[in-house]
Amino acid sequence: MMILTKKMIEIRNILQKIGQSDSLMLPSIVVIGSQSSGKSSVLEAIVGHEFLPKGSNMVTRRPIELTLVNTPGALDEYGEFPDLGLKRISDFASIQRTLTELNLAVPDSECVSDDPIHLTIYSPNVPDLSLIDLPGYIQVVGHDQPLELKQKISDLCDKYIQAPNVILAISAADVDLANSTALRASRRVDPRGERTIGVITKMDLVDPIRGAGILNNRQYPLRLGYVGVVSKAPSSAGLFKMGSSNLLTSITKHENAYFTSHPMEFGTDSGVSVGTLSLRKKLMTVLEQTMSSSLQGTSDAIRQELEEASYEFKVQYNDRPLSAESYLAESLDAFKHLFKQFTEEFGRPEMHQLLKSELDQKVLDLLAARYWNKPVNDLLQPAAETDKLADLPTAATDSLYWHRQLDASTSSLTKLGVGRLATTVIASSLQSSVEKLLDQSNFANHPFARKAIMEAASTILDERFYSTSDQVENCIKPFKFEIDIDEREWVQAKQHVGSTLKKELQDCEKALGSIQDAVGGRRKLNEVMSFIDKARKGQVFVEGDGRSGAGGFSAALLGKGREAVFLRDRADTIKMRMLAAKSKQCSVQKNKYYCPEVFLDAAANKIASTAVLFLNVELLSEFYYNFPRELDLRLGRHLSDAEVEMFAKEDPKVRRHLEVIRRKELLELVLEKMDSLRQLEGRERERLASS
Ligand code: GDP
Repeated sequence: MMILTKKMIEIRNILQKIGQSDSLMLPSIVVIGSQSSGKSSVLEAIVGHEFLPKGSNMVTRRPIELTLVNTPGALDEYGEFPDLGLKRISDFASIQRTLTELNLAVPDSECVSDDPIHLTIYSPNVPDLSLIDLPGYIQVVGHDQPLELKQKISDLCDKYIQAPNVILAISAADVDLANSTALRASRRVDPRGERTIGVITKMDLVDPIRGAGILNNRQYPLRLGYVGVVSKAPSSAGLFKMGSSNLLTSITKHENAYFTSHPMEFGTDSGVSVGTLSLRKKLMTVLEQTMSSSLQGTSDAIRQELEEASYEFKVQYNDRPLSAESYLAESLDAFKHLFKQFTEEFGRPEMHQLLKSELDQKVLDLLAARYWNKPVNDLLQPAAETDKLADLPTAATDSLYWHRQLDASTSSLTKLGVGRLATTVIASSLQSSVEKLLDQSNFANHPFARKAIMEAASTILDERFYSTSDQVENCIKPFKFEIDIDEREWVQAKQHVGSTLKKELQDCEKALGSIQDAVGGRRKLNEVMSFIDKARKGQVFVEGDGRSGAGGFSAALLGKGREAVFLRDRADTIKMRMLAAKSKQCSVQKNKYYCPEVFLDAAANKIASTAVLFLNVELLSEFYYNFPRELDLRLGRHLSDAEVEMFAKEDPKVRRHLEVIRRKELLELVLEKMDSLRQLEGRERERLASS
């Protein structure tokens, strides 16, 4: 018959994975008892090993759901913690350490937790059993323990001792049965004593007549009766820790010696049940019977759950199959498709535009530094005569000075590190485009995949970075000596620079506007600006540098005023230069010294065009080719099942969908197993009847 229990325990474990309602549970044996009643000793005797946490400081803080699996003929014994992925631990001291750590991880302030630890022990020496060890009841709360601890333990035990579980109520023989907390708890939920087994430990500590009296089942009658045990290993048990033999063997030897020395009280005719072996046998029979009788009810409940799950699957998900792998594969394909579209929209012209506008900014900086800045350091000091002139090229520009200015500006432009600049601009643009694509894709809700994809992009771009910068730098090298611009390019630059300057002017005016807002209005700003203007013309005298305030204006206000004067002058200059650039003189290249804005724009354009040719080959095409492959590598074959699962479940919608499917599959599996179990049971019954 025992094969049935094994199968039922298997089913019980699958049901546990499905979780949720209690009706979906097959019964287990729940072990309760006061602290020091000998609860651990009984469990360890059944298992044949010391493996439970020991110590005075409340060492069992979480339920331990213990599954014993009989492995006939196997040579080794080992334990597994399925939730932790810990497999085949054949050192029971190590199991004990793990259990201790898991229990002590519950903080002292909480003291108990209802989150169970799952432990499975495989051995040829254990019966197939499913047992739950709970924290021992305490009589008094320790000074460092929370006051409500007693209640918390009792509530936790109450949760587990509900029907249809079997209660193994442990009481010590040397404590009056009327004081047994375990029996009291069991009577609350099982008043007629239908599903409680009484275990009386420490039989050796009381007079045999009194001991037998307890086992007689008269004081608190239980249908399943009492078993008396002496589960304290003799002091030589240390030897057995070495694993050479079984703790159970030594305990039963010790027990037998005790019980057989009192044949009157405990002999076969005495009518009482004693010994750990009898207890084991009883547990096996009771568990099997209880599980069997729950089978019908549980399988009805499963059938109903399955119907509900199937209905939800149909209504909510249209019966659409989904697995973590298929979800990942579909998402990846869709993302690659988005990327493909992007590659068609982002090519040479787009790169050129990006790079050119970056260079436009550099050109503006150069113009500001070499042409537009009035050499005035302090806007509160009277300006020197020469300062009054803007440093702008005049129409007659055959002066050597203006030739040098333009040559120096051009040289700064070509030597600013275009290779690195261009590569950085394009690489970061690609990176932010990938990020935008991610936002539009399934991966938007998947931090794990997002990270992997962003890393894929940056790996490729980083790998290409130096060689691309070098190539681009090399290809623009000739411009460092000479830049030839034809008439068409000149005209184009003339038009283009107009809009660059306009944009710059707008930015200037905007900045001026925000200063005005910051100081509290146009009037106030005008006042301080005109004070600064007067100071520069020497019409008012300012002591020192005016840093601590002057003319009735605070230092902060003067600071703002200085900025405003600067911006106003800058705007005036730009307006002037816009007119110059538009003028007839700037229509022809030969006047380039008068038109540095146009010339530098044309030069920047040439540099950008040349750079883009190489960026296209060295960076963009490489990226477009390698990126999808890198994605396959990182999100395809390399991921473990657990990672794929973790990925899919990051999205709450997918998670729910997958859970419904998993639930449905597990229910189907369990139902199938139950059906075959019932057939097996039927055959077994027939066999017994005919024999
Ligand atoms: P728990 O707190 O209920 O788990 O109790 P333990 O199993 O740790 O036992 C408490 C103490 O009682 C330990 O010192 C055991 O050695 C001792 N003990 C347990 N069972 C017996 C027994 O049958 N006879 C004797 N004499 N001592 C026992």
